[in-house]
Amino acid sequence: MTSYQGTPSKNTWTREEIAGIYNTPILELIYQAATVHRQHNDPSEVQVCTLLSVKTGGCPEDCAYCPQAARYHTEVKVHKLMEVDEVLGKAQEAKDSGSTRFCMGAAWREVRDNRDFDKVIDMVKGVNAMGMEVCCTLGMLSPEQAQKLKDAGLYAYNHNLDTSKEFYNDIITTRTYDDRLDTLKHVRKAGMTICSGGIIGMGESIEDRIGLIYMLAQRKPHPESVPINLLIPVQGTPLQERQSVPIWDMVRMIATARITMPKAMVRLSAGRLERSLEEQALCFLAGANSIFSGEKLLTRPNPDFDEDEKMLKLFGLTQRPAFASAL
Ligand code: SF4
Repeated sequence: MTSYQGTPSKNTWTREEIAGIYNTPILELIYQAATVHRQHNDPSEVQVCTLLSVKTGGCPEDCAYCPQAARYHTEVKVHKLMEVDEVLGKAQEAKDSGSTRFCMGAAWREVRDNRDFDKVIDMVKGVNAMGMEVCCTLGMLSPEQAQKLKDAGLYAYNHNLDTSKEFYNDIITTRTYDDRLDTLKHVRKAGMTICSGGIIGMGESIEDRIGLIYMLAQRKPHPESVPINLLIPVQGTPLQERQSVPIWDMVRMIATARITMPKAMVRLSAGRLERSLEEQALCFLAGANSIFSGEKLLTRPNPDFDEDEKMLKLFGLTQRPAFASAL
């Protein structure tokens, strides 16, 4: 059996190597990922982050999993961009509850140079001044917009690849995979860190999951943050009938991300509410070292701060401070 212990961080993983990792017998895979995790990170630390939807619904895109797309009839109510003070109040609440990273999401196809963007810039400045890592997810960005966000103090930009290049068109047709890669390039060029991951449970094959990790692990440097989401099928979206995938698939994705991108923050993201403590413990063992806490994750219900605090205490995990880098 291949051992990944001591493998240096690299950007040259092949699909075959990644498939070999993903398909390792599960107990061995967890052990290997836990070992790599300990070599590169403090395994007792988990970063607690909060994600707030600052502009909700009415999005012109057609992401098949997303209840915020205007073309699907879901329970999500459209809400214009929040006021800066209101957002800063929410950021302060998140900080007081133990979050060290605050992410603001707007349901836009792309950023436009208008008053709403100016407001987002003020939000970024305000959250940055609180000493939290500030992240935004606003859709596609031009190089100039990326620079403006960086100058305002944005620490990270989230733009998920979602899935493999091959499966992407089954999920989104209103923009291309290359559009997404371009935005990631602009973010990197402006000097910000990248948050990019994907979703499992959308009907993708194992090859597609391997393809997603391949695209992420090839990036030089790796994304600093890799969210792994479990699809939450929402009534009214094209994926509403998707059956949930076994926890072992989630564990395999987390472990494969951990081994191939050893220093990244691997974020156990959407879909946690339906997972037992035992299942979440397996994810931490496999190398997840971040969670989103707070009663909502964009528009979906999520475990609240108190529940998460109890969980971390039970597992003997502590909260990672902001701006801490890997070992
Ligand atoms: S771009 Fe974002 S908000 Fe718009 S449909 Fe896709 S995931 Fe939803």
